[in-house]
Amino acid sequence: MASLTQTVNRAATYAEPGTLKICIQELPIPRPAAGEILVRLAFSGVCHTDYAFCMNKFRGIPATPKGQIGGHEGVGEVVAVGDGVRTVAVGSHVGIKYTAAACLNCENCLVGGESSCTSTATFKLSGYMTPGTFQQYCITSAQYATPIPASLDLAAAAPLMCGGVSVYAGLKRSGLQLGDWVVVSGAGGGLGHLAIQYARALGARVLAIDAGAKEAFCRELGADTFVDYRALDSDERLAEHIHRLTEGGAKVALICAASSKAYGQAPSWLRFRGCVVALGIPDASVSQAISIFQVVSLELRLIATAGVKTGSRLEVKECLDIAARGLVKTKLQLRKLDELETVFHEMHAGQVAGRVVLDLQ
Ligand SMILES: [Zn+2]
Ligand SMILES: [Zn+2]
Repeated sequence: MASLTQTVNRAATYAEPGTLKICIQELPIPRPAAGEILVRLAFSGVCHTDYAFCMNKFRGIPATPKGQIGGHEGVGEVVAVGDGVRTVAVGSHVGIKYTAAACLNCENCLVGGESSCTSTATFKLSGYMTPGTFQQYCITSAQYATPIPASLDLAAAAPLMCGGVSVYAGLKRSGLQLGDWVVVSGAGGGLGHLAIQYARALGARVLAIDAGAKEAFCRELGADTFVDYRALDSDERLAEHIHRLTEGGAKVALICAASSKAYGQAPSWLRFRGCVVALGIPDASVSQAISIFQVVSLELRLIATAGVKTGSRLEVKECLDIAARGLVKTKLQLRKLDELETVFHEMHAGQVAGRVVLDLQ
């Protein structure tokens, strides 16, 4: 293992999962086993899924262990490699995604669904059961780490590891064509502000929906038009307004907000054979079913690339290449690792514009 100037690994751990209590700890720097690499992390984005794991919000899965290191939008430099690693060089820049390791050979992996890998021996999720990216040194799989293009700023690359690839994969899988209208719901947020730019980069026209205060921000990012959802007094009027602006309805509705109301409304925004893309996950207790009557009568499709599913290795490569060409700019606020608990409180209160990125050095 290469010699390291630092001997301590500062990490933010979930002290009492189910609460937002975070503990900053000094841990030993881990050593990579065969097939693994040690990454000195420079930055980590903070995703709503991290908040959900810290608060044990997801139902039907084991509770987050006490002392868990969260985080799954990490980028940094490889400082050591384990035995047998030939494909990743010390000194190169890599990213760590929500899926930290996958077998690449099961049926789900073979079709690019690595986040749903069925190999219990290999599959790992960063920041849930496996130590994540809210720390200075992180071990990850050499074959699954993401190479970061040299021209891409590391802080700007961090939110692309989950937020960026999730919106990109959703747009790509929706099958949108040049000139199609895409409605981005929650357009001014961490996912939405990336979705506007990726949709534009893919040749779509963008109708951004958010609160009126976000209009200038959304238009500056490339939204062709903007709708303040609070300015229209009923679901029917909102749908009519969207149909007028898009000349008959949008082809794709990308739901970035974790809002069950938006999911209930989305089919009425679409034209024939449109597609709802599920990104934000509403609280199960308030989920509102999408109208199957509308889905059937308009022959709609519903697809998911939500934060907990994200994209494949190919999709993350394409997503990074688009950003490296300057077509997508991440709007981020840099914070310190020690501020994670405050950041989670701000996220819960809806006070975060763009994406929070932790500066880990
Ligand atoms: Zn697999
Ligand atoms: Zn995420």
